Amino acid sequence: MKCEVCGNSYDKAFTIEMGGSKHVFDSFECAIQKLAPVCAHCACRIVGHGVESEGAIYCCAHCARMSGERGLKDREAA
Ligand SMILES: [Zn+2]
Ligand SMILES: [Zn+2]
Repeated sequence: MKCEVCGNSYDKAFTIEMGGSKHVFDSFECAIQKLAPVCAHCACRIVGHGVESEGAIYCCAHCARMSGERGLKDREAA
């Protein structure tokens, strides 16, 4: 199978089904590149759970707050 990100043909390539469509990748790096959401504040790839708020997704509560989101609190906040 051929990776749809880098075009590498690899016999250990794998498929990920997301939102009803299938994607073929040769590595998790390529899968993250293609499928991982991007933080709305710092633009980094969100590989963990992230923080979702009002349609936007952030890598952490800090980024959500920097973007004006006030509904989320860090653990140290009173
Ligand atoms: Zn690839
Ligand atoms: Zn971020």
